[in-house]
Order: sequence, then C-alpha cells, then structure tokens
Amino acid sequence: MAAGLRLLIPEEKIQARIRELGRQIAQDYPEGVLYLVGILKGAWIFLADLARAIERPVRIDFIGISSYGTGKSTSGEVKLTKDLDCSIEGEDVLIVEDIVDSGVTLSYLLHVLAQRKPRSLRVAALLDKPSRRTAAVDLAYVGFQIPDAFVVGYGLDYAEQYRNLRDVYALEEPS
Ligand code: 5GP
Repeated sequence: MAAGLRLLIPEEKIQARIRELGRQIAQDYPEGVLYLVGILKGAWIFLADLARAIERPVRIDFIGISSYGTGKSTSGEVKLTKDLDCSIEGEDVLIVEDIVDSGVTLSYLLHVLAQRKPRSLRVAALLDKPSRRTAAVDLAYVGFQIPDAFVVGYGLDYAEQYRNLRDVYALEEPS
C-alpha cells in the first residue's frame, strides 16, 4: 500500500462487525420500514454494506453535510449541502455515519432531523473516536472505537483520495 498509510482495520474485520450490527439492528426495531439516512460522502460504502446486513425492509436516503473542507480538522462550521428527498415524519430513522470525532456534525444533524418529528431517531457509526468528543452524542450502534488518528479508506477520504480502499488505514504524517 502507498507510503503513509498504516493498516488499522482489515476488510474482514469490518465485514464481520457489520454483519453483527445488521443482526442487532434488525432485532431491535419493531415491524415496519426502517429509514436509513446516510451522511455524504464518507458513509456511502458503510451504508451499502449495512443495508444489506439488515434483514428487514429498509428505505435509503442521503443527507449532505460539510464541516471539514479538504483539511484534517473540523472548521467547527457545519452546513447542509444536500437535504433528504422524503419526509421522515413518523418514521423510524437510523442515521448512518462513517466516523464520529468531535460530535459537532452529528449533534447539528440530530437537532435538524429531530425537528421533523420522526418516530425514533438513532445513530449507527462505523468508527468512534471518543477521546476527541466535544459535543455529547448518543451512539446506539458503533462498529469500532479507535484512538485519535486520522483515518482513510472504506469511504473515508483525505482531500477526496483513498475512499475506494477496502480497509481502514491511519494516515501518517511524513517524518
Ligand atoms: P465531527 O463533527 O464529529 O468532528 O466530525 C465528523 C466528520 O468529520 C465525519 O463525518 C468525517 O467526515 C470527518 N472526520 C472526522 N474524523 C475523521 C477521520 O479520521 N478521517 C476522515 N477521513 N474524516 C474524518
């Protein structure tokens, strides 16, 4: 693999954990359609795999949020770049997020979506960096807790690169 990338979570571990999460999610929800909302762009691959691991009817939608630009740390400013296509009023909604870092993006999104009166609103995050949290958010489903490293692959980018890697890697600064 290219210099500067250190393997953190291999593909097989990611896929095994997603199968567990899918089973858990399918059990936890009552009858009816589960509305999966993927956060663009980083969560697209996780959403595709998670949706197929949940053996029950689901609907898929995407919401676009930007807070990072092309750098490695949050600007603290969150903006909606693409809204949902459909109403979520009265629906069971599960937000599907790639990684939770400060929690700022997610707490903004939870606030926006709660105002639309879904029946339930929870979060599934593939990766969680708890040591970096500044905004408290409740994560119902977490794939892996990771240390404070900037990670790429499996949908996650650095300056729009690396999204198509099958594993998750820590991006290391050149020494
Ligand atoms: P937060 O608002 O929780 O600080 O940041 C959440 C968003 O920042 C994630 O959805 C993701 O887009 C981006 N982000 C946070 N940490 C990382 C990371 O380690 N790697 C990448 N590629 N993006 C990250």
